[in-house]
Amino acid sequence: MEKNIPTLEDLARLDREDPLNWTRDEFEMPTIKACGGEGEGEAIYFCGNSLGLLNKRARQHILEELDVWSTSTVTGHFKHPHNRPWKHVDAPLTPHLAKIIGAKEEEVAHSSTLTSNIHNLFMSFYRPTEKRWKIVIEKGSFPSDWYAIHSHPKLHDKVLSQEQIDNAVIGLSPREGEETLRTEDILKVLEDNKDTIAIVWLPLVQYYTGQLFDIATIAPKAHEIGALIGLDMAHGIGNVETKLNEWDVDFAVWCTYKYLNAGPAAIGGYYIKTRLDDGGRRLAGWWGNDAATRFQMSPDFQPTPGAKGYQHSCTPVLSSIPLLATLELIDKVGFPNMVAKGRQLTGTLATLLQASRYYVDAKDDQSRVGFKILTPDAPYRGTQISIAITPEGKGTMPRVFSRMIQRGVVGDERQPSVIRLSPVVLYNKFEEVGKTVQTLELALKEEEEWQKNGGDVDVKDHDIISKE
Ligand SMILES: *Cc1c(COP(=O)(O)O)cnc(C)c1O
Repeated sequence: MEKNIPTLEDLARLDREDPLNWTRDEFEMPTIKACGGEGEGEAIYFCGNSLGLLNKRARQHILEELDVWSTSTVTGHFKHPHNRPWKHVDAPLTPHLAKIIGAKEEEVAHSSTLTSNIHNLFMSFYRPTEKRWKIVIEKGSFPSDWYAIHSHPKLHDKVLSQEQIDNAVIGLSPREGEETLRTEDILKVLEDNKDTIAIVWLPLVQYYTGQLFDIATIAPKAHEIGALIGLDMAHGIGNVETKLNEWDVDFAVWCTYKYLNAGPAAIGGYYIKTRLDDGGRRLAGWWGNDAATRFQMSPDFQPTPGAKGYQHSCTPVLSSIPLLATLELIDKVGFPNMVAKGRQLTGTLATLLQASRYYVDAKDDQSRVGFKILTPDAPYRGTQISIAITPEGKGTMPRVFSRMIQRGVVGDERQPSVIRLSPVVLYNKFEEVGKTVQTLELALKEEEEWQKNGGDVDVKDHDIISKE
């Protein structure tokens, strides 16, 4: 597999010629020091899959809201000098969100946080019967999803026997020796349990492996067997092409602090396909009531048709409005252009990783110092590539990870052996991809020496970024 391996000069040229290279200036880039490393200058932040960076306009929006709070006080709900009355603070967000997820505006609501939204939607759409009560989820799912899903069958103990509750969750796992799920295997589980599955719950992009699921193929099968399909889009939204209507997804949730840069623990959102909203079963609150009559304070609950009818509380302004900055930026750039650049950035990362002398493939000795790649090849991934540092365990990964941090490369670690690297379209550069791989190689080289010498190498002796 001899691909053209780009040099740092090639990558710098790609950055200069990149029509989207201006968007980086919209963000506040962290310094190496602030990220825990040593040296001057900006860190290489490849952790936007976990917490997106601060958009400069988001800072401005928050300051504006503080000023409105200070000066307009309660009237800010209705009259707002920046035309964002708090009563409808989600109004400018909804059209953008609908566009990037491929849905109608009335199918989108901006509310609460991701896990609470899972509970909200499961209260409405998980309606188990004695015959059909099971939920499909990956065994390796994000723990919050796993806990949330397991809690729902227990709420139906009048309908389900204890044995049914105990068997309600079908956990999907990859084949022996494989890291990610095969679509054909998922389809087979659906077929094998076709009379008992109520809901298929999957991520759009898997948080740990970076796998992008083939929802266009899985959703029709879920419907064929009479189940609903719901998606966790935490790592998908703002990252990969998303066509909820076209794929015919029933419901979905997301957070906004990852690829949408809305800030730590910012507000989440959800999607409900129009045909699912039967006007009935839900957890109700005044914000789900029709906006036109909400302030009449009537005792009769009249839900807003569509997803917004499933909201509970007034929308948190300070954790919502930072989102506007990135949504407007995405609109300016064009989401398809972002997705295309994301493929190119991540494709470059994959090429450089696979060309590294530290790359360990399935046929190699798994006990040598190096890394495996967990993430599938394009097109089954977003911008994130997850690598597992070898030999696994033995504290190898944390040492390698901290050497990278020391030099200003910020990925994130997942014990025991995984490092996730996500070059984010809106603020990362091609050149950073090259430097990240060099830094990883250096950290691994030091690990080789460390293991050979029984553990004493002065990591500060090398600094590849200042040397090149
Ligand atoms: C980030 C993430 C969450 C976080 O849930 P919160 O309720 O926002 O804390 C949940 N599930 C997945 C898959 C995630 O990636």
